[in-house]
Amino acid sequence: MLHAFVPRETTAGESRVAATPETVEKLIGLGLSVTVEAGAGAGAHIDDEAFTASGATLASDASTAWSEADLVLTVRGVDDQQAHRLKQGTTLIGLLSPSEGAQTAALLAQRQVTSLALELLPRVTRAQSMDALSSQASIAGYKAVLLAAGRLAKYFPLLMTAAGTVKPARVVVMGAGVAGLQAIATAKRLGAVVEVSDIRPAVEEEVKSLGGRFIELPMVESGEGKGGYAKQMGEDFLVRQREIVQEHLAAADVAITTAQIPGRKAPTLITREMVESMRRGAVIVDLAVEQGGNCELSQLGEEVLHQGVVILGPENLAATMSEDASNLYARNILAVLRELVEEGKIEIDPDNDVLVPMLWTHGGEVTHGPTAEKLAAAGAAAQGD
Ligand code: NAD
Repeated sequence: MLHAFVPRETTAGESRVAATPETVEKLIGLGLSVTVEAGAGAGAHIDDEAFTASGATLASDASTAWSEADLVLTVRGVDDQQAHRLKQGTTLIGLLSPSEGAQTAALLAQRQVTSLALELLPRVTRAQSMDALSSQASIAGYKAVLLAAGRLAKYFPLLMTAAGTVKPARVVVMGAGVAGLQAIATAKRLGAVVEVSDIRPAVEEEVKSLGGRFIELPMVESGEGKGGYAKQMGEDFLVRQREIVQEHLAAADVAITTAQIPGRKAPTLITREMVESMRRGAVIVDLAVEQGGNCELSQLGEEVLHQGVVILGPENLAATMSEDASNLYARNILAVLRELVEEGKIEIDPDNDVLVPMLWTHGGEVTHGPTAEKLAAAGAAAQGD
């Protein structure tokens, strides 16, 4: 029987958990046994007793659980110390930050660990139920609007009151991917007027169907890149985009920025001068801050006040809604396991179009091209020293 282990997350500020009592029951239904580290659900308000009632075994001594597991289900992957505890041939699943921890990948490969990074899941219809980036980005988009509303010294909706009319708040959303679309929907539900900028023409219809106004850009070529993601645009285009967006920002109460290009620094969409052209009391929430930020002045995890404009650079917003974030994330993991586990065994068909792209390490190799290239470059540099 396959033994799955769900550890308590150790990354600072991480309150999510990779399984819930609901998914534990279903994992057991798939023929797995499940061990949960004591306290693993505490950040998401799930008691140890709820896990044991769903059929999990509780591990108060996590070190044995780490070394006995065939399958480790995480939110944020492992640190090097935890990687050393894994037995050979274990399978690890989580948001492993494959574009960052090349040395961790090398260690996992050396230990013959098969690691599946949810960030590498292809964005195809068949994989939607496994898409943790989407489930978590949607939460971030929703929460970004609530953070902005909480800081804004104004109403969001249009109100007709005995003391006169209150104008609706004006919100500019930059980047209409999963987080941006949820931000648009949330701001609309609160009654704001929402304007949106994106470089992929395909999103215009979605934006309009949510009641947003699309800011037209002078697109000489489509911003659509591989796999439905955006591609990097030239600096000339970004300069023109900033000029156009500036007019909308100057009249805005809130800007929510979510624009990203996979594998690259986020594009700068709001410069210092643009912040200075905004009204005092305006609020910017920069969701791309972990990728370098869309606003020149945002700081990771900080609140910056610049000439009366509040700029928030929140870190890991999904974790601030740890209950729903864990519920959705745990279901994403369950969907991956439904694809991965065949008759009580882990099977990865080399032709599987969803699992194979997610492999970070497998069969003693670093299988993710960009990570393998980084390691090769680092090895060559070390030899040259
Ligand atoms: P993302 O986080 O990589 O980027 C967010 C948004 O920023 C994108 O819409 C992108 O076009 C936009 N952007 C980039 N540069 C910009 C600029 N200069 N100005 C304005 N906007 C800019 O995107 P994501 O949320 O991960 O979604 C990527 C794509 O994948 C979307 O098309 C989404 O609908 C699609 N998707 C498909 C599935 C599926 O079919 N299973 C699931 C999830 C997402």
